[in-house]
Amino acid sequence: MTSSPPKRREVKPCLTAALDYARRSWPVIPLHAPTADGCSCARDECSSVGKHPRTEHGLKDATTDEGVIGRWWDKWPEANVGIVAGAVSGLVVLDVDPRHGGDESLRVLGERHGQLPETPKSRTGGGGQHLLFAHPGGRIKNKVNLAPGLDIRADGGYIVAPPSLHASGQRYEWDVHPDDSLQTAAQKMRIRNIGFLPVCDGERLVGVLTDRDIALRTTADGIDPRKSLSKEWITTPIVYCFDDQDVDDAAHLMREHQIRRLIILSRDNKRLVGVVSLGDLATNVEEKKSGEVLQEVSEPS
Ligand SMILES: [Zn+2]
Repeated sequence: MTSSPPKRREVKPCLTAALDYARRSWPVIPLHAPTADGCSCARDECSSVGKHPRTEHGLKDATTDEGVIGRWWDKWPEANVGIVAGAVSGLVVLDVDPRHGGDESLRVLGERHGQLPETPKSRTGGGGQHLLFAHPGGRIKNKVNLAPGLDIRADGGYIVAPPSLHASGQRYEWDVHPDDSLQTAAQKMRIRNIGFLPVCDGERLVGVLTDRDIALRTTADGIDPRKSLSKEWITTPIVYCFDDQDVDDAAHLMREHQIRRLIILSRDNKRLVGVVSLGDLATNVEEKKSGEVLQEVSEPS
């Protein structure tokens, strides 16, 4: 039996990431988190579930001080994490919301002004994307509705960052692009405290990358992780299950292919919806939930 993943991320899911962001000189703030009844602020009609600052002075409290960050997550272990945008972090963020036409706006912008360069990207728990760009200097204001579904977060703004929990139950996640270096992929694993990452080209899942791939197939051979691309090392073909299949199917596949984590795709459009680990399955077998469908036991990807 393989050991289950570290417990720490279950206890303080966003602390590792918050410290990692701080080390990159990105000031962070703890945010409220979604709960079973709504938002941890406990307001009846919270209009910003899991997205607004927990501290008294909001963005003004943002810091890169690891001591302060540690104390925040001691006090609020489940807090989500926000990164402050603007000159203070050197980040300008394009916030793409497909529910309001953001994908289409992005496509139109690309046609008019040329495609955007490949840049770090996170998938928001609500189906959108955050694209991170270097701040060019001067002052860049936040701009809501630059085009339908497109906002800019810059000076005076912030973003909800991975691996924060979204009200949908999905977590925000850094996208690993096939052209990312192995070093970048490993950093993204560290932020989420996991050893397994799906690699996507846009919506399309092209493979998975594991800490084992990196350690055994590259480090052991002395390959430079800054020069080696994720796509050269991803595990293909991808072994997956659909979200309406049951736990026994997943366990069977994992045994057959000797893998510890399994990709879950939605039946209707084959979108990546989650990942199930041996640990998740073991828990469910203990609780005699064998037979339950995967969408109930997998964690958001
Ligand atoms: Zn709230």
